[in-house]
Amino acid sequence: MAKSKKQFAIIGLGRFGSSVAKFLSEMGYEVLAIDSDPESVQDLANIVTHAVSADSTDEEAMKALGIRNFDVVVVAIGENIQASILTTLILKDLGVHKIIVKAQNELHGKVLNKIGADKVVFPERDMGLRVAHHLISPNIMEHIELSSDFSIVEMKAPSAMWGKDLRNLDIRAKYQCNVLAVKRNGEMNISFPADEKLLVNDVLVIVGRNEQLTRMEQAYAEP
Ligand code: ATP
Repeated sequence: MAKSKKQFAIIGLGRFGSSVAKFLSEMGYEVLAIDSDPESVQDLANIVTHAVSADSTDEEAMKALGIRNFDVVVVAIGENIQASILTTLILKDLGVHKIIVKAQNELHGKVLNKIGADKVVFPERDMGLRVAHHLISPNIMEHIELSSDFSIVEMKAPSAMWGKDLRNLDIRAKYQCNVLAVKRNGEMNISFPADEKLLVNDVLVIVGRNEQLTRMEQAYAEP
């Protein structure tokens, strides 16, 4: 029998929460959207499966909504750090399987980890980092932090690489970074031949230590 699709609850329908809720709904998932502000709820009423106005720091209200039965609950309350922490504690107490929480800053994130959030996300910080990487090296199209030490970057092949192959570029020896794949004409090749020449619009997907990636980005930076 086909496994039924995951069910999600999103608490806090600011820009972040509502975009998570909308995307999941568009992908065909069942979404319960919760916000204490009836206007925010109204905005999503016709998009998600259920949209309700409730205060997530009210344990009884969360119980009544059957929050425990959702596979994943996303807490996207930003400014009110106290409400975000209380909500996470309540969800934890109610036995929610997986809790993902948006943190406002590092300290908020630390508290959330301590009280048992399964994943803490920092959308503003991460987007700031991406923009900064792109400013240092406009060839960097994407930057994904895997941990505090390692990242994956998508880099448009800089002109210094055109006509050269991966063997000659020797990125592994020079920067201790690994080219995982090369994207050409929209197609991802995960076993790109080491002796094939790179072309103008190729995009390299590279994994490495953050400081080594930055060193490589700077070495290949072009105006
Ligand atoms: P974003 O950056 O995603 O727009 P934000 O980080 O500025 O959001 P807020 O606007 O402070 O975050 O909060 C997001 C939403 O969470 C708001 O719509 C707010 O009404 C809702 N919210 C705040 N506290 C609670 C609560 N206790 N219960 C339910 N919803 C809440």
